Amino acid sequence: MAHVISDACIACGTCKDACPVGAIKEGTPYTIDAGTCVDCGACAGECPTSAIAPA
Ligand code: SF4
Repeated sequence: MAHVISDACIACGTCKDACPVGAIKEGTPYTIDAGTCVDCGACAGECPTSAIAPA
């Protein structure tokens, strides 16, 4: 299981700093490496556009 980032992402980078395992990669939109994500949900609460949700 992993969280995923939708097209609502504005590439602000806020979530990247919130991830404890470095699973979030820069881009437009940002992406989450499913093999690294531990599904903690820390990033979801930080996103200003609510673009991050459980897969
Ligand atoms: Fe990182 Fe947790 Fe978000 Fe997965 S759910 S990308 S481990 S902050």
